[in-house]
Amino acid sequence: MSNSETTSEALRSSRFERILEAATDGIVMLDKEGRYIYANPAAEKILGVSRESILQRTFDQTEWRLSTVRGAPLPGEETPFKRVLHEKKGVYGLKAVIERPDGEKIVISTSAAPLYDAAGQFDGMVGVFTDVTELHELQEQNTAFHHTIAHDLRTPLTTVIGHAEMLKEAFRKGGVEGTVWENVEAILEGAGKMESMIHDLVDSARIEGGHVPLEKKPLALEDFIWSLLRSFEETLDPNRVATRIPQGLPPLMADPERLERILINLLSNALKFSPLDRKVILQARQTDGEIMISVIDQGVGIAPEDCSRLFKRFFQVSGRQPSGGVGLGLYISRLLVEAHGGRIWVVSKLGEGSTFYFTLPTK
Ligand code: ADP
Repeated sequence: MSNSETTSEALRSSRFERILEAATDGIVMLDKEGRYIYANPAAEKILGVSRESILQRTFDQTEWRLSTVRGAPLPGEETPFKRVLHEKKGVYGLKAVIERPDGEKIVISTSAAPLYDAAGQFDGMVGVFTDVTELHELQEQNTAFHHTIAHDLRTPLTTVIGHAEMLKEAFRKGGVEGTVWENVEAILEGAGKMESMIHDLVDSARIEGGHVPLEKKPLALEDFIWSLLRSFEETLDPNRVATRIPQGLPPLMADPERLERILINLLSNALKFSPLDRKVILQARQTDGEIMISVIDQGVGIAPEDCSRLFKRFFQVSGRQPSGGVGLGLYISRLLVEAHGGRIWVVSKLGEGSTFYFTLPTK
């Protein structure tokens, strides 16, 4: 190596080192046996342990303890670094609570990846962790806030609906028609919409909080869809829905109530956003260990910049007729699909229509 190459190599490595030292995220490196061989100052700060002390440790003999955000101890097998060392696969954005030796608990988001030497041999790993305690607390407060609002709104609304129904019954018996009848119908319709928005708020908070355990069982898709369309005739016009489900499709493993929710959200959106004379197609096909379901419409379509935000909380396409929801339908669908180990996405073109896809496992 020439002198100038040695100098530039030295400069480069010192520059990399300065970047690592200046980073505000904790960065550590472990060798292939799982011994800590590097820790930057931010790692010291976040872990509450001196660098010297970190460098005397292995991944399973640390001075800090890890638990899940719900407070359960994280089993050794599930610690992100152990997963990378044993399975040689990257871990991204795993949230955990770390209890430092001084007793303080902080929430971290960890990513880690295996490292390979020039010959392609596994040579250890690098881990990066960020202190997300404040963000996590905000999210928890947000969830608690939704929950309180939703519960406090529900009680007076139940009274409104109950009294409006009694009035309607009295009008019906007394043969009252015209404006007063329409008024009471309008109260019931408005209150019904409000009830379903509150339902979405409560549900999303419960799912986010991990309070919705899945009760999975094998389900035959074709029968499932038809009984769904029969039960929800008022919202999902069965004459506008066509199914394309291949014979011999294996049953999928899903929680029937949750699958119903996902399908109602996707089908009712597809019907709502396409002309009455256009059918919505529900198609399914088997892929590797999964079933991919698509809901295809020939409706108004969605602009590319909106497609990427569609599954986010409270997102609604602006400038459209109000959908009667609060922008939680697709967000809830995403949470439920992901809880089953599946994925959900959309392909759409403005003015031509949209196809929503999701996958569910067969085992
Ligand atoms: P909400 O619960 O308020 O109905 P969603 O999460 O179901 O909201 O949908 C979010 C936004 O995506 C809606 O504002 C709607 O405009 C748009 N959208 C959803 N499905 C379709 C579709 N099939 N075609 C066109 N736009 C759609």
